[in-house]
Amino acid sequence: MQPVQAMNPVNSSTLLRVFSHILLPVFVMLATSNCSTSPTKVKATAKPVVAEQQAGNGVDWHPLPNEQANTYLLECKAAYDSAKQQLSQLESAKEFAENLVKADPKPLLHAINQLDITLDTANGKSGLYFNVHPTAEVRQAAELCQTNLTKLLTDYSLSFLLYTRLAAVDTEHLDAVDKRFVVKMLQSFKRGGVALPAAEQKKIRELSDAITQLGMAFSNNMKNDSHKVVVKDKQILAGLPADFIAKLKPNDRGEYELSTDYPIYFPIMQYAKNDQLRKDMYIAFRQRGYPANDQVLKDLLSRRYELAKLLGYENYAQFATDDMMIKTPENAQFFIDKIDQAAKPRANRDYQELLTRLRKIDPKATRVDDWQKTYLDDLVKKDNYQVDSQKVREYFSYGNVEKGIFDLTEHQFGVQIKPWVTDVWHPSVKAFEIWDKGKIIGRFYLDMHPREGKYGHAAKFSVHAGITGVQLPVAALICNFPGANNPAALMQHDEVETYLHEFGHLLHHIFGGQQRWVAQSGTATETDFVEAPSQMLEEWVWDADTLKTFARNAKGEVIPDALIKKLRKSRNFGKGLWTRHQMFYANMALDFYNRDPANIDLTGLMKESQAKYSPFPYVDKTYFYTSFGHLDGYSALYYSYMWSLVIAADMFSEFERDGLRNPNTAQHYREAVLAPGGSKAAADLVSDFLGRPYNFDAFARQLNRH
Ligand SMILES: [Zn+2]
Repeated sequence: MQPVQAMNPVNSSTLLRVFSHILLPVFVMLATSNCSTSPTKVKATAKPVVAEQQAGNGVDWHPLPNEQANTYLLECKAAYDSAKQQLSQLESAKEFAENLVKADPKPLLHAINQLDITLDTANGKSGLYFNVHPTAEVRQAAELCQTNLTKLLTDYSLSFLLYTRLAAVDTEHLDAVDKRFVVKMLQSFKRGGVALPAAEQKKIRELSDAITQLGMAFSNNMKNDSHKVVVKDKQILAGLPADFIAKLKPNDRGEYELSTDYPIYFPIMQYAKNDQLRKDMYIAFRQRGYPANDQVLKDLLSRRYELAKLLGYENYAQFATDDMMIKTPENAQFFIDKIDQAAKPRANRDYQELLTRLRKIDPKATRVDDWQKTYLDDLVKKDNYQVDSQKVREYFSYGNVEKGIFDLTEHQFGVQIKPWVTDVWHPSVKAFEIWDKGKIIGRFYLDMHPREGKYGHAAKFSVHAGITGVQLPVAALICNFPGANNPAALMQHDEVETYLHEFGHLLHHIFGGQQRWVAQSGTATETDFVEAPSQMLEEWVWDADTLKTFARNAKGEVIPDALIKKLRKSRNFGKGLWTRHQMFYANMALDFYNRDPANIDLTGLMKESQAKYSPFPYVDKTYFYTSFGHLDGYSALYYSYMWSLVIAADMFSEFERDGLRNPNTAQHYREAVLAPGGSKAAADLVSDFLGRPYNFDAFARQLNRH
């Protein structure tokens, strides 16, 4: 296979992401991506005159009836006012005049960083509260706060006065980190339209506001969706684990109302024998957000298209890929098709195995349907690989998993995780500190179980970025695992994998959070790289030595070697189908964004992608895209998930060679890839670790492993 770097990788920067946050605000990204990257970095500014116009033009701080919400809103307003004043200073204060900046850029750079800290902190908190606060009025206040902050961010990104001052910096006399900070920020300004005439800038502001609103509407429509499947007879739940059924509470009529929440949906798709129940759940799950989000998404695509045209691009996909490693939509398309072709033979074999298994249930079956896939996959693993996932989950109580992940982190990276005594937003939230060589290096919250009104996926949220000598990095994991009030609750093995994946983002935030500049802190790397460290970390939930440190059943018995062996063997089954399915999503996202969306038929395009990349036919009345948050957060860039998987596989090959639990390799990895955050280009971080440029080989080997 062609090496990945043949795709003409381009160094993009965190600052560009900062700006893309303006255009696709960070919190929205967080709210909608199931494995979030860092939000943070923000830039905002305005010429005083423009700021005044803005003040009369949509910035809204109306008092709220709820006292708690109002107190929070005032706190946000104070941050907003401070940021606005800082921005105004940056644009007009004599101390940042071009001749002084030329002589010594440090005061200007530090003042910009201070503004970034103010905005990052306010944005982090509002993003978190919008998604997790138990009080609905506080969530609304957070939404208002985000809307107002985004307006300021847009002003910042369009500040020609600040841009001119920054352009006066003599980058030749800066060290590599500062130089990157300045160069990337200047690029972001240009990319964001800073040099456009006033009328066009006004339009950019309007579009950015509209995009923010639409992103939040998309997210709200998903969060507040109440699709349910009603089951009248307990018999219909046959096949599901007894502890799952025991937790369900019948309504007054003795029926079971099954929500589409993950802890309900996934076990049903995996275990329920009743084909109709799985089909009903499948349809309900793919009607979340429909029909409202069909229109919201069309509006979002239109605004983004208009924005891209204003900024000089042919369409939004071209704009979005321009500062990624992959560079163009054509390269992304090439990559999608290349991966699809590579996965096809394996996917065909996977499909045949599923069909053969289905024929044991229904001898006349001629095809497998999408709602049967997970169920049959589980049966094949049980029959052909002797892996019974219900037996496997007996070894993964929530409490043991959490401890296991903490222990793994401590072992690999030589750090200690200790409780952090602090206020939390809900009694189930826990807080911790990470210590390294006798010093605290970061803090985090775990909000791990579902509750009403809470973000429904799994993601790392940045509370705020870490800046050396100024503030420690703080992050929060927001997930929806079993185990609320009961650490003995059992998790699926793939939930354990998700936990570790998200924990990987958290470690990246903290290990990479010892930086000079907010714009380079933690996970502020290229969007098409940011998943790689977490994807690589997933490998450890398949490692026998690691599993044996924490996977114990209720009797205290350690997971048997034989079971781990079978689990590992079964892992490769289904990989071909999974990979092609990912390319279906990636192609759909690209298709939505690589055209003029006037009269776009979203369902039609989705069906086309499905027909091309998936052997499972479209199911009537399903609208997967209305709840696919990545269409907002990642826009056209869903391919990036697979792109970073290619890099993750390459990085993992070092651990395979040296031993997965070799702390020297882990430390080297931490120093080369995680610690620099966004202070270097991702391609350089990876080659610093590998001692060579990354390539496609390890991924191809993994895909063909039996
Ligand atoms: Zn992720």
